[in-house]
Amino acid sequence: MCGVLGILGKMPLSMARELLLLLAHRGQDAAGLLWISGNEYIEAKAMGSPAFIELPDESPKIILGSTRYPTIGKRVGTEKDLDIFVGPFQAEQIALTHNGNITNMAVYAEKDYFTDAQFITDKLAKYLSENNNILPDAIRKLSSELDGAFSIVGIHEGKLFAFRDSRGFKPLVFGRSKDLTVIASESTVHSMIGIDVERDVYPGELLIFSQDGKLESFSISQNALHSHCFFEYVYFAHPATTIENQLVYDVRFRLGRALASAFKKMNIETPDYVVPVPDTSRPAAQALAEALDVPMREIILKNRYLGRTFIVRTQEERNAMAKSKYIYLTDKIRNKTILVVDDSIVRGTTAKMIVKDLKGLGASKVYFAATCPPQDHPCYYGIDISTGKELIASNSRKEEIRKYIGADALIYQDINDLVNAIGLKDLCLACLDGDYPTEHARYIQEQLQDEEESDSRDYERVIG
Ligand code: 5GP
Ligand code: MG
Repeated sequence: MCGVLGILGKMPLSMARELLLLLAHRGQDAAGLLWISGNEYIEAKAMGSPAFIELPDESPKIILGSTRYPTIGKRVGTEKDLDIFVGPFQAEQIALTHNGNITNMAVYAEKDYFTDAQFITDKLAKYLSENNNILPDAIRKLSSELDGAFSIVGIHEGKLFAFRDSRGFKPLVFGRSKDLTVIASESTVHSMIGIDVERDVYPGELLIFSQDGKLESFSISQNALHSHCFFEYVYFAHPATTIENQLVYDVRFRLGRALASAFKKMNIETPDYVVPVPDTSRPAAQALAEALDVPMREIILKNRYLGRTFIVRTQEERNAMAKSKYIYLTDKIRNKTILVVDDSIVRGTTAKMIVKDLKGLGASKVYFAATCPPQDHPCYYGIDISTGKELIASNSRKEEIRKYIGADALIYQDINDLVNAIGLKDLCLACLDGDYPTEHARYIQEQLQDEEESDSRDYERVIG
């Protein structure tokens, strides 16, 4: 995932940091800001939330921001890691930050890289120097080599630019007012400062914004077929965000309605309550409750100052985190039949924990519903589920999963219902159906076909 931000027009750094907080849910590992002061790029980075970035009292004319979610390399553990792993990055004449994941970095990298963003930065600097410093030419060369997902925001010659891969995997939108241009992963950034979103950056499009208000658009690598990441709607994006003209809240609401139809077909006892697992599944739980005509009750509450458990890498850490992540309204649970709704079941840790907790608190039955269909293939484009080994649905059938999490019934979203709820045909569903839209991802899949499963990420195992 990751969040990216680009601002052209004078803005206090502290305000840019506020805007970056709107992308904090996209990357809780670390965050960074980069700006131009005089003729220099200056960076400030921090572990965890953007709120921790220390900034001078300045109002630069051009700023980049980044929140990191690791899909390559480890989590940031020390201050020293910040330079290596956390964007925005700079090389010679350019600076940039990116959201997505490059699947074939090892094929083109001239040295070992800790992150694909630094690799892209160095490559772009190289192609600029080989192409008379002409950005569209350099980007064209770069994009002909890259396989994977990339939504990039950068600075070149005092101009702000945005570039999105030809499949449009990851979101990227821009908006302008008289004095400001803002490019961001999510449209909530624009809402916050009262700028209308003009539109999504088109897949394969390079946009260059000049300080005098000029906008140039270059078609770099058009692809007739787009592959927007469906998981943005299910999990990643803020509900108030609009991606490809679909409001995420509405999509989640429709996902809940579809789950209600699936539930009704199962002919099981109507629950006393529908209960969302905070925060992502709230709109879905609301819709589900309305459709089943039972109350929704938020009896699972979150300690919202705790990080997302998913980001913790070892299973032991994850189990320990999941235990302390939720607080229950204990007196509303005894002898009740409860239908819990979460956005997804990835490794099954969260679901198992919640069912166990609710039963321990006296629930008579616990049903578990997921707004996402079973994810049984790894993602190579930016969700950190990069090996089949960690996916419960890849190794178990539905009935086994139900037993594993201890639920009395398990309701998964159907793939067609998911597609209808999102309302777009051109989606990347690779982690659901194994149909990878890019060549190198298919190559990785082929190479690993007869290999033992491993803890390392697939795209870090296959390197040629
Ligand atoms: P599990 O506990 O089954 O491994 O993962 C499912 C839980 O993790 C769900 O509650 C879901 O909200 C969350 N989740 C799913 N995908 C991601 C992700 O990519 N990042 C983070 N932080 N959480 C995720
Ligand atoms: Mg969750």
